[in-house]
Amino acid sequence: MRQYWKIKDRHPGAILLFRMGDFYETFEDDAVTVADVLGITLTKRGNGAAEEIPLAGFPHHALDQHLPKLVQAGHRVAVCEQLEDPKHARTIVKRGVVEVVTPGVAFRDPLLDAKHSTFLAAVAWGEGREASTVGVAFADASTGEFFLTEAEVGRLGSLLQTVAPAEVVVDKRHVDRLRDAMRAVQGGELPFAVTKQEDWVFGLDFATETLLRHFQTHSLKGFGVDGLSVGITAAGAALYYLGETQKGRIPHVRRLQRYRSEDHIALDPATKRNLELVASMQDGRKDGSLVGVMDATLTPMGGRLLRQWLVRPLRDVGRIQQRLDAVDALFLAPRLRRSVREELRHVGDLERLCGKVCTGRATPRDLVALGTTLRRIPPIQALLDGEEAGLIGRLRERLTPCSETAAAIAAALADEPPAQLSAGGTIRPGFDAELDRLREIAGSGKQYLTELQARESERTGIPSLKVGFNKVFGYYLEVTNAHKDKAPEEWIRKQTLVNAERYITPELKEYEETILTAQDTIGQIEARLVEELREGVAEAVEPIQANAQALAALDVLAGFAEVAERNGYVRPEVDTSAVLDIVDGRHPVVERMLPAGEAFIPNSVRLGAPVGEDPDVATEAGQILLITGPNMAGKSVVLRQTALVVLLAQVGAFVPAARARVGVVDALFTRVGASDNLAAGESTFLVEMNETANILNNATARSLILLDEVGRGTSTFDGLSLAWAIVEHLHETSAVAARTLFATHYHELDALSERLARVKSFSVRVREHEGRVVFLRTLVPGGADHSYGIEVARMAGLPPSVVARAKRVLRHLEAHDVAAEVGVHGEPVGDGMPAVGRPSVSALPAGAPLPVALAVPDPIATEVLDHLDRLEPDRMTPIEALMALADLKKTAGGERGV
Ligand code: ADP
Ligand code: MG
Repeated sequence: MRQYWKIKDRHPGAILLFRMGDFYETFEDDAVTVADVLGITLTKRGNGAAEEIPLAGFPHHALDQHLPKLVQAGHRVAVCEQLEDPKHARTIVKRGVVEVVTPGVAFRDPLLDAKHSTFLAAVAWGEGREASTVGVAFADASTGEFFLTEAEVGRLGSLLQTVAPAEVVVDKRHVDRLRDAMRAVQGGELPFAVTKQEDWVFGLDFATETLLRHFQTHSLKGFGVDGLSVGITAAGAALYYLGETQKGRIPHVRRLQRYRSEDHIALDPATKRNLELVASMQDGRKDGSLVGVMDATLTPMGGRLLRQWLVRPLRDVGRIQQRLDAVDALFLAPRLRRSVREELRHVGDLERLCGKVCTGRATPRDLVALGTTLRRIPPIQALLDGEEAGLIGRLRERLTPCSETAAAIAAALADEPPAQLSAGGTIRPGFDAELDRLREIAGSGKQYLTELQARESERTGIPSLKVGFNKVFGYYLEVTNAHKDKAPEEWIRKQTLVNAERYITPELKEYEETILTAQDTIGQIEARLVEELREGVAEAVEPIQANAQALAALDVLAGFAEVAERNGYVRPEVDTSAVLDIVDGRHPVVERMLPAGEAFIPNSVRLGAPVGEDPDVATEAGQILLITGPNMAGKSVVLRQTALVVLLAQVGAFVPAARARVGVVDALFTRVGASDNLAAGESTFLVEMNETANILNNATARSLILLDEVGRGTSTFDGLSLAWAIVEHLHETSAVAARTLFATHYHELDALSERLARVKSFSVRVREHEGRVVFLRTLVPGGADHSYGIEVARMAGLPPSVVARAKRVLRHLEAHDVAAEVGVHGEPVGDGMPAVGRPSVSALPAGAPLPVALAVPDPIATEVLDHLDRLEPDRMTPIEALMALADLKKTAGGERGV
């Protein structure tokens, strides 16, 4: 226990898994937590004295199963192993922590999703002259990717949202600052684990020294991060923390890259979720998301890069064009694409293999996978031979065959080494003379034993005589009971089984000694050779990492071309204008998910912001499209497909449309009305308004804004008024005069298009046919005049009596036309604000009867009517009728307190 507490003290805040023989044990509070999270039994252990301490443990082979659960529950876990063979320990076995697993630092396969990056981030705040600057560094420990950036303090929240780290390391004095930054952009729990560090970890000198020592350079100039002192501070803290958790084994972190958030479109989590970029809203899975449709990658690192690209679309037209050129080249050369993809199919996870090699975790099988992958490089290079220009040319140049490494692996290791090193047979015959000699000895020893078995069987006349082996007393001769009388005297009996006896002989032991010694030495030599090979590969890891990155990009680009061909996408025109012109655009996901026989109806959308070279477009095409139409018409789909076409274009992919021109956007904002978002637990009107405020405060004239049913989370009148004011603001304030799509089922909002020059009114067409609504899904100029809510409700299966009643109420309302009564239809009322169809209560003349509209949802009236509807007077006795009447009266009056 003294050893335990000493190690435990050195890892504050972590659960310590203490290896004892075949078990990992935990004690005290750790045991309580572990028992709870893993659902294992909590026991007690006498601690010499009277006191007892809680204890919980699990067998060592269950580590891969239990560790992820602990980490996913938000815990840090220090894995403490026995560092020597207990057989050789004279006193207490030497133990030490070999790694600390945290939410943001994970290597083990069960903790990592092959197609997702897991980032650890560190945040540092500037001081003095740099008090308004924040530095953020983030690293993927499994691949060695390492980025650094600086931003305005106010942008920290959205920056962290974009990076989406699993864990953030922060100066223990600044935890509140971190919370505040996140609270400014999203409510609820922090979306990552927070790890507090001492303040000295966040010193510039300490950071610089940590980085220089790790990269073994004299300055950080080569990384292009010189002068970014706050960012460097964060990077130093991140690297220090990684080193601490990995006990220094992080040589695969080979370079520090500058991440420029201004290079990418800002996407907040709400937007990522609403557009279902990486997971569908319904069940959070990849199917039904954009990734699900766009992911034709064949390598794990390609899959990860694709996800990064999709959530970080570019803003620079030049870079976008380079990617588009590359996709175009692969699109136009289907044979080349197929051949390249055929090679990629056999490529392993080079990036993570490098990580494993450098952290000493690579198994012989990992090394073989690495070698096999490297051998795919020359053929891929050869395929890309005439592609000197552009991005593909540059990727081709970055590929290195690393033939020496590949050859070293192939020479040393067997083609299919066993899973366990101890099983022997890992090293290829002929690689090491000493190993071959020992194998010969062990092999001939076994051969000798076979001969011995035959000879003794002959001599003793025991036909079933067998030579066997067990760990307790080594090689033995086994005689079944039927023949045990024939066993010679000189054999020494060792064990009696139910139906056999086991014996040893001096001759057997002699050969046993030779065989076991040889096998022991074989194991040691194999382990040493594998270790030497691993170290050799680790030293040459840089070009392998470069290969991994180039292959990942090639995989994504070829995948884009593949998807474009499969799904009929076209190359978008991308420029710096503020125009958006999509002809016959489609929703990439919805079009693939429609039930068989239903065709997706394409729609065109044209927009322009009043900036750039072509300001007239804005007035002609419209800066703001107001899209009305009943529920289920297809409004949300039009909005999302527009955003997705823009996003795909700026990612550098082809798009689902007949033609598309995209003037690059600097940010993409979406706000989906509360009731569309219940599943995400964001039903409050406050959240809706928070996000809308964020949009109005941060959008620029180059942004793209999607507002879907904003205002639906509150009463009709509030909602309409807010929607009205928001559209006016976007139209009238030049700083936020962004291209906007505003979908609403409040067809009354349509009146705006007559008042504001750049607001254009569109509607998704429906037709009424024999009292039913037929959805045509086509976007046409002009507003909808009718909500069709009742028809949609009927189609949804509302009871006919409710539908009939609703129709009666509607007719009543239309007959009374409350708007006409108070004379405000489209005219300014009160303080000069335009009214939107129906009056607000406060606008009613004093003493006027309440408009019927307000009495409609009266639940009591509905209940009474329903009850009446169910009564069958013909079948009732007088007393039953009286009781029913009394019930009705109670419902109608009692609950109102009349
Ligand atoms: P709204 O937002 O107007 O209530 P949605 O945009 O959510 O309606 O569309 C409702 C459903 O109609 C979608 O889930 C989809 O199945 C179908 N749909 C929408 N647009 C199209 C289209 N252009 N072609 C085919 N089906 C469509
Ligand atoms: Mg909708």
